[in-house]
Amino acid sequence: MEKTMEKPYTVGIDIGGTNTVFGVVDARANILSHDSIKTKDYPDIHTYVNTLAERLMVLIDAAGGIDTIKGVGVGAPNGNYYTGQIEQAPNLPWKGIVPLAQLLKDRLGVPVVLTNDANAAALGEMTYGVARGMKDFIMITLGTGVGSGVVVNGQLVYGHDGFAGELGHVIVRPGGRLCGCGRHGCLETYCSATGIVRTVHEVLSSSDEPSLLRNIAPEKVTSKDIYDAAEQGDKLALEIFRFTGTILGEAFANFIAFSSPEAIVLFGGLAKAGHYIIDPICEAMEANVMPIYKGKTRLLVSELKDSDAAVLGASALGWEA
Ligand SMILES: [Zn+2]
Repeated sequence: MEKTMEKPYTVGIDIGGTNTVFGVVDARANILSHDSIKTKDYPDIHTYVNTLAERLMVLIDAAGGIDTIKGVGVGAPNGNYYTGQIEQAPNLPWKGIVPLAQLLKDRLGVPVVLTNDANAAALGEMTYGVARGMKDFIMITLGTGVGSGVVVNGQLVYGHDGFAGELGHVIVRPGGRLCGCGRHGCLETYCSATGIVRTVHEVLSSSDEPSLLRNIAPEKVTSKDIYDAAEQGDKLALEIFRFTGTILGEAFANFIAFSSPEAIVLFGGLAKAGHYIIDPICEAMEANVMPIYKGKTRLLVSELKDSDAAVLGASALGWEA
């Protein structure tokens, strides 16, 4: 409660390849105000930081000024908690190493803490979401890529270099699909949004079965489209969910052996496909997990609103500042 007496708010910033979303948040997870800018419009990092700081100050001033802000938390792809740098993020406009936390701190004059986006999501779930009160869980974000945040004994695992927990790049099919990381068969190549598009391609072209998915350009198919088709009893849609869920479940059985989590928390579009995806995940997980772990790890779906989750997750980091 001390934090609320000192400074009542934090700022959460989520940097994505398309948008940067930010907001002022109180200790009860109310987002007082939020705004966004298009990340892609700022190839120059200094212009980006200037614009972000200006737009942020409008929100901060409305909340009562910079003295009400305990800290700023930032979630970004390849964000390094130790260095405050974004390092070699393939989907952001800035190449190499960007000292983002320092640049923002210089502009705002308050502490800035940075981590990768999936770690921020894990903190958001632990602070405000379905993982409240849990000390051991794994967050899996199913989006453009597959990200993860591993919480052990109440703390995020960062590893010696700040990059621990890239479970999306665990190889689940040796020699399988080519991944953006340059290797083959990563979980991400099957279970990210783009991975599912690849599966749709494969399933549709290897069968003559009629499917509602044939009415959509294959590269545009989303998990929502597959869900809608599954709701109509579409056989191939169900097959796609089963294929994807089985790979996820097999991978989770291995993750469980690493940290024995109380729960695996899923976030992202695919996680909204309900029992179509959850059932095959659970089946494959229970079929492959070591006997001592059987039936012990819950599979949970985030209940935070998409639009809020990223800002809340990053803002949770702001209290640490
Ligand atoms: Zn990979």
